[in-house]
Amino acid sequence: MEFTPRSIKANFTESLKDFTLRKNLTKATHHTIEKRDALKAAAPDWNKWRDAAAASRRESLLHLDRYLAQFENQFTALGGEVVHATTIEDARSKILDIIKAENGRTVVKAKSMVTEELELATFLNAQDIETWETDLGEFIIQLAGEHPSHITAPAIHKNRQQIAQLLHEKMGVPYTEDPELLTGYARQFLRQKYLDADVGISGGNFIIAETGQVILVENEANIRLSTVLPRIHIAVTGVEKVVPSQQDYANLMRLLPASATGQKMAGYVSALTPGVSGGPERMIVILLDAGRRQMLASEKWEMLACIRCGACLNVCPIFNRGGGHAYGSVYPGPMGSILTPGLSEPGNAPDHAFASSLCGACVDICPVKIPLTKLLLQTRGDVVNTHHKSWDNLAERSVWKSWSLMMRHPGIFRIMRWFGARIPVRFHWGSDARKLPRLAKETFLQQVRDGRFD
Ligand code: SF4
Repeated sequence: MEFTPRSIKANFTESLKDFTLRKNLTKATHHTIEKRDALKAAAPDWNKWRDAAAASRRESLLHLDRYLAQFENQFTALGGEVVHATTIEDARSKILDIIKAENGRTVVKAKSMVTEELELATFLNAQDIETWETDLGEFIIQLAGEHPSHITAPAIHKNRQQIAQLLHEKMGVPYTEDPELLTGYARQFLRQKYLDADVGISGGNFIIAETGQVILVENEANIRLSTVLPRIHIAVTGVEKVVPSQQDYANLMRLLPASATGQKMAGYVSALTPGVSGGPERMIVILLDAGRRQMLASEKWEMLACIRCGACLNVCPIFNRGGGHAYGSVYPGPMGSILTPGLSEPGNAPDHAFASSLCGACVDICPVKIPLTKLLLQTRGDVVNTHHKSWDNLAERSVWKSWSLMMRHPGIFRIMRWFGARIPVRFHWGSDARKLPRLAKETFLQQVRDGRFD
């Protein structure tokens, strides 16, 4: 399976045949949704929390430059450093420069979707800088040489037996399906890496303009070890992650763990401040644009309110059948079907917005009330207005033009219907598995007049 946005159709065709994948996914996502639903049922103020979280994210986006400047002032006043990166390549080279300037040889990396956009671990390893993913799921994915298949649960597509076999083959540990033993092997290996590392790299769930803090949310404590033990800590975050105040951060934290993993609270939440004794010598925040301002200026700007909880993936019937890898992009599911084309070059992901049933389950579950179906339709409109105007879609355009003509002229409609009802074959529609039903010989009106419905 190719990991490029353009291969989404071929990837789905392949992954739909994988019943183990579907079983693993359905079991994991349904379990998370059940836990999230139970928390929601026990929280009478859930919808008020959602309103507050949604308002807070939109306030940040509507005044992005002001809050970013405030964050930078606060963060640098405390002794931190802020670096701006306009593109993925720019961010990679600036991170590499920092590591080289510090004679860094080993990097421990916390889970972060922005660094997945940079393919940072692969990039740094190719530059002879030993880089290890420290989140257990990401560590499994790194050993497997794969990409994460879910934004909060990177190895969700693998079951216990597959993980046991992988660790046995790649780490040479005895085969066992005992989760505690498997976790123990990974922990033992990574503990030494934390101690060896010169540089720790993390993402940032939120950055707070009011206080200049970087917020990191996790369950395994690997982020704490990655950000505090090495001499240098680099936090890479998208510009949209800024929140105005601690109150806004508190509003969002009422919903993030519940929506992401069905937990009332996350295992560990770190509010990192530069210059604190016992922390790293240098703390640097990389503020990445990489298409975000372009998206902010578009009609799909609300997508940047996303807090990467992954709930829309869990409820999506398309994601649950095809899995994350089928999308061929860092961000899968409903949010990915808008973000992937939105953050990339025009025409780079023309089929993503069509990988949706538009059922609206993602809209109902989104903690920050992103109108995902509306944005999916707008993205489809972009594709139709650009890609579908080309000659290669002449046949499709002709069909819709004829349809439009027919629907506007009842006489033509009646003639076409008469012919249509006499076509002896049934045509395929959408896929090889679906066929259009045959038209009835008599119209609905004729059937009513004949008393067929009395
Ligand atoms: S779009 Fe909403 S539900 Fe989906 S990941 Fe983002 S915040 Fe979560």
